[in-house]
Amino acid sequence: MTPQQQNYFAIAYPLSFAPPSRTTIDCPRGWFDLLDELLYRLERHAEEACAAGEAVPVLTDIKETRGALSFQSSHDDPRSIAVIARAMSRSQQICSDCGAPATRRDGFYHVCVAHHRGGSWT
Ligand SMILES: [Zn+2]
Repeated sequence: MTPQQQNYFAIAYPLSFAPPSRTTIDCPRGWFDLLDELLYRLERHAEEACAAGEAVPVLTDIKETRGALSFQSSHDDPRSIAVIARAMSRSQQICSDCGAPATRRDGFYHVCVAHHRGGSWT
């Protein structure tokens, strides 16, 4: 994920990345749309938490671990548990490089045909 993409997330989802958050996003670029959809939903849940006077979960760590999305926040919001679990599962079904449906594995990574040509890819 590029610094520009991380900045986009921080600006688009201010409650989820509220200061003093120093959230790092260390994910393959192919997961951008997956993360954008997940963070959009979490931000809506954060707005609901705010409106209800509840503490808003602050994201602390978003990364790739052994080919799957790994996600940490300051605390669990019951509204978000299923959404996060679904995104973690979906991360293993899309290409790490381009976000297309993944059909092959290359080590821990899941890749599409275009990015899997009989060996490693970059
Ligand atoms: Zn691909």
